Amino acid sequence: MTRPRDIPRKYRKLYERAMSGRHPRDAIRFQCIECMGYQEGLVEGCTDPHCALYPYRMSRDSSYRARIRSSDAERRKNGAESMQAVPA
Ligand code: SF4
Repeated sequence: MTRPRDIPRKYRKLYERAMSGRHPRDAIRFQCIECMGYQEGLVEGCTDPHCALYPYRMSRDSSYRARIRSSDAERRKNGAESMQAVPA
């Protein structure tokens, strides 16, 4: 558990944005940075694909966001198809 006074100065603004409850992307980003011992560069190489935050950990990376959008679209399409398969 993070105590605000233990957060490196560099990440305090990010923490405040995360704790405001209005910026879920920053909350994920902060959590991943904290998880990696405040070594931001290690987040991309996270080796725990079972973590619930894993698919979202690089949300600031535009190419990653594009991949997420396309997988979300695919998931929605698959969901729509499976809903059609369910008898009413
Ligand atoms: S996705 Fe990886 S870096 Fe982010 S919280 Fe989970 S284990 Fe930590």
